[in-house]
Amino acid sequence: MGNEVTLEKLLNLVKSYNPDEVDKIRKAYEMADNFHYGQRRNSGEPYIIHPLNVAYILAELHADGNTICAGLLHDTREDTEATWEEIVAEFNEEVATLVEGVTKISGYASDRSLINTRKIIMGITTDVRIIIIKLADRLHNMRTLQFKRPEKQKKIALETLEIFVPLANYLGVYRIKSELEDLSFFYLKPDSYKKVSEDVQVFQEQNKAMLEKVLADIRSLLINEGIPVEIKARVKNIYGVYKQLEQNHQLKDIHDLLALRVIVDEVKQCYYALMVIHSLYRPFNGQIKDYIFNPKTNLYRSLHTTIFGPNDQLIQTRIRTHEMDRIGSYGFPAYWDIYKGEARHKMQKLLTDKFQFFKSLTELDEMFSDNAEFVEQVKKELFTENIHVYTPKGEVIELPLGATIIDFAYRIHTHIGDQMTCA
Ligand code: MN
Repeated sequence: MGNEVTLEKLLNLVKSYNPDEVDKIRKAYEMADNFHYGQRRNSGEPYIIHPLNVAYILAELHADGNTICAGLLHDTREDTEATWEEIVAEFNEEVATLVEGVTKISGYASDRSLINTRKIIMGITTDVRIIIIKLADRLHNMRTLQFKRPEKQKKIALETLEIFVPLANYLGVYRIKSELEDLSFFYLKPDSYKKVSEDVQVFQEQNKAMLEKVLADIRSLLINEGIPVEIKARVKNIYGVYKQLEQNHQLKDIHDLLALRVIVDEVKQCYYALMVIHSLYRPFNGQIKDYIFNPKTNLYRSLHTTIFGPNDQLIQTRIRTHEMDRIGSYGFPAYWDIYKGEARHKMQKLLTDKFQFFKSLTELDEMFSDNAEFVEQVKKELFTENIHVYTPKGEVIELPLGATIIDFAYRIHTHIGDQMTCA
């Protein structure tokens, strides 16, 4: 297979953004390879393939050298004779601490699963990189889940959907989040997965030419206005579509099923681009969102507008700068690129200062000594899903799952909430 990850491929990728760390990473690979010598995965492959893939996923996020070393060594403390002292002697305390952090929250031990879930969640407060390594670890395990027994597959998929997907979402790592969602969905509901992915594929084929035309029109108009632009087409992930269909939406009514990403150089060009796009295609009222001056809790920034393309097909358009685009795809780990050497401290500080959920997490941890209660509360308060409700005018309102008609009334206007008598 051509897309197999090799040491050379990993080192080349690291070389492209952080050439100084290549030797250290090669050393970590050799150490991990020695420790795992003779061990095999369920697939029959040598064990080292797993940490190598985890390291590669981290390198795709442009992780720092210590994090990639820890990714390579992440299973050595649990599954081999490697000691803390050896890792410190060969590398440094930071690598050893990261490996230790990942080790503490490893395994799917059923009797300890609530304690483990708590550790996974609280790992974010010690060093967010522990969670990012854990996400990469889970992603590779999910990609190779076919080698596990069916009951185990379902169990791991469910845990992924309940714990890792919300964590990836909170850190804004959308790439990993969508892949984890689709893989979990594939194992939890194989029939629905098959149906939805086939339907999406047909729909995509039918609209391909139309989407390409819209893309070309927007591009040439912006280029004519002297705005350098990069435009990418994107299709919503299978699980995301499934969730919308479950709410009785039709495929063609999902406002972000077909989406364009319009990437420009500067913030002011984003607003100019919005105007240009609206002059070409009629916007869908209520779907214009300014996440640039009103960023999402995970620091996501972008302008959103849904337009009526030819045939009145809805197309979601996200307009952003290159930096916003990087954060949009990679989320928190994008700061590795933005802050380089200082990223580690910046990331943790950002998390403490700006992330509301981080504060709630620390509070909940102090409040609940019982693990079951803690996990229950965290899921309730932090991992709440949103629902989308349409007003009679066709506007979409976002409310937390479980919200009632009264919440809806208040969201439209406090007057309506105060005066409503029935619905
Ligand atoms: Mn692992």
